[in-house]
Amino acid sequence: MPQNILFLAQVDESGTALPKIAYEVLGAAIDLATQSGSTLTIGLVGEDVQSAANTVAAAAARIVGVRGPDFAHPRYATDSAALEAICREVSAQIVLAPATSRFLRVMPGVAHRLKAQVDTHVSSIDAVDGALTAKRWFYRQRLEAVIQRDARPWLLAMDAGCHNAYAGASTAANVQLLNLPLSAEAKRTTFASVRVPNRDAQTIRPDAKLLFVAGAGWCKKQADGKTHLPEAEAAILQFLKNSGASLGGSKSLVDQTGENQAVLGFMTHLNQVGQTGSTPRHPKGLSTCCHGEEPHVVGWRFVNERRAVNLDPNCGWARGKADVVYVADAFQVVAKLNALLAEKASRK
Ligand SMILES: Cc1cc2nc3c(=O)[nH]c(=O)nc-3n(C[C@H](O)[C@H](O)[C@H](O)COP(=O)(O)OP(=O)(O)OC[C@H]3O[C@@H](n4cnc5c(N)ncnc54)[C@H](O)[C@@H]3O)c2cc1C
Repeated sequence: MPQNILFLAQVDESGTALPKIAYEVLGAAIDLATQSGSTLTIGLVGEDVQSAANTVAAAAARIVGVRGPDFAHPRYATDSAALEAICREVSAQIVLAPATSRFLRVMPGVAHRLKAQVDTHVSSIDAVDGALTAKRWFYRQRLEAVIQRDARPWLLAMDAGCHNAYAGASTAANVQLLNLPLSAEAKRTTFASVRVPNRDAQTIRPDAKLLFVAGAGWCKKQADGKTHLPEAEAAILQFLKNSGASLGGSKSLVDQTGENQAVLGFMTHLNQVGQTGSTPRHPKGLSTCCHGEEPHVVGWRFVNERRAVNLDPNCGWARGKADVVYVADAFQVVAKLNALLAEKASRK
């Protein structure tokens, strides 16, 4: 059944484009509109929306925007007012938005104001036999829910990495700008600054091709009866720098940090992959010195090609959880990889 579909997005920090996840969700919105014979409208929020609108102008006949310095940075009061105004202007029945931290904070509030219903962490939405059907995962990707709702509007925040990104050519967009008067109260919270870790300290890289996971083995006594923490730290950091990989850790390893044991200084709980950690999406994964137990491996649900290095030929990875297992010393393997990557870099 045709619906009035609205795709919502924020302008990214560059001020001229949308975040990568937004182009992915736009790809899903276009497919849904085509499948269901629906109209698609685009709604944008940012300090200036024109340049970003140009990048998606070919995707929809109508683009509605809320712009101004008050919408440059995330703020609950102004973001929720902007999204609500766009949804009302368009009389949207289905609202698809990227699950950015900025939007996830306001979507439930916007749904409440619109007397709508909202689902988050959606991984797909399709028109199946005339009914709109969304899917999301529960219990760390072990259970998949299939959701249909009669309620309209229905707001859906979609996760990253679930759909091919829209990549149409840029063209001049005709943006219908909404005038949104804001009370002084709505502007009470002010933006101060963005603080980010320096590049070397930033080990979590969601867009990396490779996820490199370190397990507790890196901190264990090795064949000579001693631990080799400085060597482990240097080898892993060198590998991350050379390869651009994202760093994951097993629970055993990151817990040691909290227990003040001698550990890898750059490893935090944010790196933990698994049932009580994260479920990152990367094309490839390489596990080192990690046993491959089920609560850890469930976090590899969306890693397409999995390889592991372990001294133990009987480790969990070798029991069908990885595509390739190298029964080898990870210290030696990573040292060799670093040498090969350095040689490759020197040839450029
Ligand atoms: C409710 C619950 C939730 C949990 N959630 C998570 C979770 O989210 N994420 C998670 O990771 N775990 C989780 N766990 C813990 C999980 O079950 C394992 O205990 C943990 O993953 C083990 O970590 P590890 O493999 O790094 O350490 P270990 O089991 O100690 O394995 C270390 C490995 O290193 C290898 N090794 C040592 N030296 C070398 C070397 N030089 N070269 C190659 N290999 C070497 C050893 O052979 C060994 O296999 C959870 C457990 C429970 C009960």
